[in-house]
Amino acid sequence: MSQILFPTDTEGFSVSRKLDKLGNRCSDTAELSFVDARVPLSNTIGDAGRGFQQQMTQFQNERMIAAYSAAGSMDGALRRTADYLRERQAFGQPLLANQYIQFRLAELSAEVDLLRHYNYACADAYLRGDDTTRFATIAKLKAGRLQREIADWCLQFHGGVGYMEETWVSRYFRDSRLLSIGGGADEVMLQILARLDGFTA
Ligand SMILES: Cc1cc2nc3c(=O)[nH]c(=O)nc-3n(C[C@H](O)[C@H](O)[C@H](O)COP(=O)(O)OP(=O)(O)OC[C@H]3O[C@@H](n4cnc5c(N)ncnc54)[C@H](O)[C@@H]3O)c2cc1C
Repeated sequence: MSQILFPTDTEGFSVSRKLDKLGNRCSDTAELSFVDARVPLSNTIGDAGRGFQQQMTQFQNERMIAAYSAAGSMDGALRRTADYLRERQAFGQPLLANQYIQFRLAELSAEVDLLRHYNYACADAYLRGDDTTRFATIAKLKAGRLQREIADWCLQFHGGVGYMEETWVSRYFRDSRLLSIGGGADEVMLQILARLDGFTA
């Protein structure tokens, strides 16, 4: 496989279908069509035949960056949910007065903290020039799973209003689902990890 730069004004290229996504609707994702479209060989990116390896290197960065931004978004989602629960009165007191809710938010916040510090270690290793395959794999896997869990709890604690499109948390819930799929699914992260850590037959 090789990677090839393909200018979108090349004859034969078209965006054949814009895909209707569950979340992340602010960025469009589409099917691209190449009919008898040709570009010069000089448009090859990097080395011919090394496209897969080059893409894998890019993937390590993409996975790390995904985990970095996830930590920030999860922290924000927990804070916004706490703000809402402080305002929302039920049975004569703010919902946030419930110890169960306090403990759930505190524990999830602690999980975000663990991820954030793992991310710092990841970034340090990258800056040192180390191989970050294992770091990036773990960070992306754990970030994806945690973001799904946090989005679900934030929506749950908003109750019915959280199910409405007009409330930010419903969008957060939809958008959060991608992290466990995009950039390589959780199971692919586990496959890499199992191989790296010697858990294979
Ligand atoms: C919104 C969006 C944007 C995207 N943007 C890009 C982009 O910019 N660039 C790009 O290159 N790609 C992009 N992708 C593609 C994305 O990387 C793939 O969708 C993702 O890697 C999963 O591959 P797949 O969809 O082919 O799933 P499949 O390979 O069909 O897998 C389906 C499911 O099977 C399971 N599975 C897969 N492999 C294994 C295994 N080895 N062991 C056990 N279970 C397994 C997983 O649960 C997985 O989710 C995007 C996808 C989406 C949804």
